[in-house]
Amino acid sequence: MKIHEYQAKELFRKYDIPVPDGKVAFSRQDAINAAKELGQYPVVVKAQIHAGGRGKGGGVKLANSQEEAEKFSCEILGMNLVTHQTGPEGRKVKKILVEAGQKISKEFYLSLLVDRETSKIVIMASQEGGMDIEEVASKTPEKIIKVYVDPLCGIQAYHLREVAFKLDLPSSAIKQFMGMLKKLYVLFVENDCSLLEINPLILTSDDKVIALDAKVDIDSNSMFRHKDLIEYRDLDEEDPLEVEASKFNLNYINLDGNVGNIVNGAGLAMATMDIIKNAGAEPANFMDVGGGATAEMVENALKIILRDEKVKAILINIFGGILRCDVFAEGIVKAAEKTGINIPVVVRMKGTNLEKGKKILFESGLNLISAKNLKDAAAKVADAI
Ligand code: GDP
Ligand code: MN
Repeated sequence: MKIHEYQAKELFRKYDIPVPDGKVAFSRQDAINAAKELGQYPVVVKAQIHAGGRGKGGGVKLANSQEEAEKFSCEILGMNLVTHQTGPEGRKVKKILVEAGQKISKEFYLSLLVDRETSKIVIMASQEGGMDIEEVASKTPEKIIKVYVDPLCGIQAYHLREVAFKLDLPSSAIKQFMGMLKKLYVLFVENDCSLLEINPLILTSDDKVIALDAKVDIDSNSMFRHKDLIEYRDLDEEDPLEVEASKFNLNYINLDGNVGNIVNGAGLAMATMDIIKNAGAEPANFMDVGGGATAEMVENALKIILRDEKVKAILINIFGGILRCDVFAEGIVKAAEKTGINIPVVVRMKGTNLEKGKKILFESGLNLISAKNLKDAAAKVADAI
């Protein structure tokens, strides 16, 4: 689950991690009040969207007066912000963060993430922080410091010292930085984060270390034990079809192609996407209804895919195990009765109650294309688009 910068900074404050003073604003008047409350200039006006690269896209502006703060707030609120992470269609800005501007003497990069290769938490840091970190990482990877922490032992003083020294921080800032990094690690673990990134982490002109930006991703699978974080979810920032799918516990990800597919089991869904590609077509989604799906879940899955305008044909690939073929077929027929299917649908089914399932599907009067096996199904669906 992604959260906004202003929410990440709220979390930082709870852990006593220094961030600039600031307030989120949803309207022009909110923004004016927030700037006045800060009582200082410059203030920074920052677009709050679930994507980075806002600075380069014109979503972060430094205002030197109340007039400027108002002007930038009006410009950014409601703008369609295009960054390298939003894709060309951009993202509409519905809220902004109005923050006390800081005097930056140096910008660093700092992040914590789960490293699957070593099963450790890796701290990444660099003296080359700021807006071009992607370029630093690809052209001069030696400038990225990596320190691995074994989660069983937790973070130790030597980890903190190693990062601080390699960042070449001034001696007056080292102690503060080490304290901050330790708290960031605790925050990361306690909140089941998958990523925590501060870019830039700044050294101010009076040698204080502050998180100027904050990005936190939380492992969605851990939400059951973070009831307090659920309120941070912003459905406005998520794909509407994915939001709909999550209501029915469907594992769904919207993709760019035009072949919709419904599969039971994540592994089979991955294999189905591969075989669609092999047949020369592009999957429009990943949809795993799960091994133990009910007819109702199948019905909702099909409805969601039918709502996706880019879908030109559907491949249904079911291995009937716990989810029996007849239960699955009932779900498909119900969804079709309610929504109507006006695109080609290819069905490949195997497993428990296959004959019963086939009977339900092919006696329903639905215009379905039957496939002998998965390869045949992929060829038929590629043909149908
Ligand atoms: P991002 O582009 O989405 O990562 O947004 P950031 O929060 O990182 O802001 C982009 C850039 O704006 C930073 O790298 C800073 O150079 C600049 N910036 C942000 N806040 C301040 C501030 O308080 N003072 C100054 N001088 N620059 C700032
Ligand atoms: Mn940033």
